[in-house]
Amino acid sequence: MNESLNEYPHRHPDDHPHEHQILNPATEEVIATVPAATPGDVAAAVARATEAQRGWAALAPADRARLLRRFAAVVDGRIEELAALEVREAGHPIGNARWEAGNVRDLLDYAAGGAERLSGAQIPVAGGLNVTFHEPLGVVAVIAPWNFPMPIAAWGTAPALAAGNAVVLKPAETTPLTALRLAELALEAGLPEGLLQVLPGAGPVAGAALVEHPGVAKVVFTGSTAVGKQIMATCAAGVKRVTLELGGKSPNIVFADADIERAAASAPGSFLDNTGQDCCARSRILVQASVYDRFMELLAPAVTSFAVGDPADPATAMGPLISAAQRERVRSYVPEDAPAAIRGDAPQGKGFWYPATVLEATGPGDRAAVEEIFGPVAVVLPFEDEADAVRLANATDYGLSGSIWTRDVGRAVRVSRAVAAGNLSVNSHSSVRYATPFGGYKQSGLGRELGPDALAAFTETKNVFISTEEQ
Ligand code: NAD
Repeated sequence: MNESLNEYPHRHPDDHPHEHQILNPATEEVIATVPAATPGDVAAAVARATEAQRGWAALAPADRARLLRRFAAVVDGRIEELAALEVREAGHPIGNARWEAGNVRDLLDYAAGGAERLSGAQIPVAGGLNVTFHEPLGVVAVIAPWNFPMPIAAWGTAPALAAGNAVVLKPAETTPLTALRLAELALEAGLPEGLLQVLPGAGPVAGAALVEHPGVAKVVFTGSTAVGKQIMATCAAGVKRVTLELGGKSPNIVFADADIERAAASAPGSFLDNTGQDCCARSRILVQASVYDRFMELLAPAVTSFAVGDPADPATAMGPLISAAQRERVRSYVPEDAPAAIRGDAPQGKGFWYPATVLEATGPGDRAAVEEIFGPVAVVLPFEDEADAVRLANATDYGLSGSIWTRDVGRAVRVSRAVAAGNLSVNSHSSVRYATPFGGYKQSGLGRELGPDALAAFTETKNVFISTEEQ
């Protein structure tokens, strides 16, 4: 039990539900009821994880790799089941949900290879030899959000396990089901009991207890910038390692020399995918003034024809928002009477639906143009020249992603270098690949996930100097 909890009455478990009802956001039906972990459950899980981690770290790297590959194979056999669960609990279109389950499999496979390649180094110096080791940290807490519950749970978990750590994963209140299923599949694959534990629960109770627990060596958090700052402050008290993947307000910069047809045709997907609940959403569309009208003409039919509806239908491109609260948040940025430049349709009745919406910025202080909305809403702003585009692109506290549309290679490179963001794409909106590093500049985060260095973030480096002097 966390003794300090009573000092924070607002975080007392009695203030939070003891279980969470999981709703299908497309229908508002209750699909499951999941118990909420208490600080006592967190302490017990960390104790079990500590025990399991000792045995796991003692395994040969090749054995850890073999078990993680088996975990990937078990996930591969359950892609349809996991995808169907993601459709029901998160409202993701089935095609997207299949990609998400496949991303978990691919990342487990990729991280397994990392386990075998995590070798140290020998550095000879006068009078001796240095041997460096990359040692696991111990127990890692992964705190996941609801927008991509399955892949983001895996982004922290797979490399942490591969590097020899145990993981206690706290999924978001609204979306614990795929994470719970992944923990069962880990056992089925033969991963040791206690090595990967999933504890659903309230962020301010179970999440906070996990972050504070002295037995947790590192916290990997994905979620809002506000909560990320609190977590970083808590971690500072114990100099706990922390990786933060936070929000974004990413620009989609369209220069006049671009293929305007392609830029306009691809723009809707870049802010409507996952109903805009994507930290990489290109929700600020910056268009060079000389092609602004032409771009808007092409954008309108592309937005209004974006297929919204039943997430289980393979033809659907956009499902509902995650919750009523999220819909209220999105609405707060788009007053009912605000003239939208473009507005799509959305189903009526049950479900947390919201139409695709494009706004024209009213001025530099426009909230909708600088704050993360996390819904299917984009703001369009004109710019004059390259310097103006870069200035606007950088005019937020965030720096996660961005796209640059131009046929001029030199400009593509110049602007990519000038935009302060961790993941840029040229004539594309792709941000996430398991084999390339992902993370944010400025208030979009701290540290990187994925890519060849992912395991390094879950190790301490130890150097041992061995004297070769005669005794
Ligand atoms: P959130 O910050 O409220 O919650 C994220 C997770 O943190 C949940 O599991 C929640 O239970 C937990 N949590 C909440 N308060 C906590 C506390 N005090 N201590 C410990 N854990 C706590 O965010 P959300 O509403 O789930 O997700 C939406 C936000 O996340 C958006 O702002 C979005 O941009 C951001 N996000 C960023 C990325 C990225 O990779 N950069 C990815 C997904 C989401």
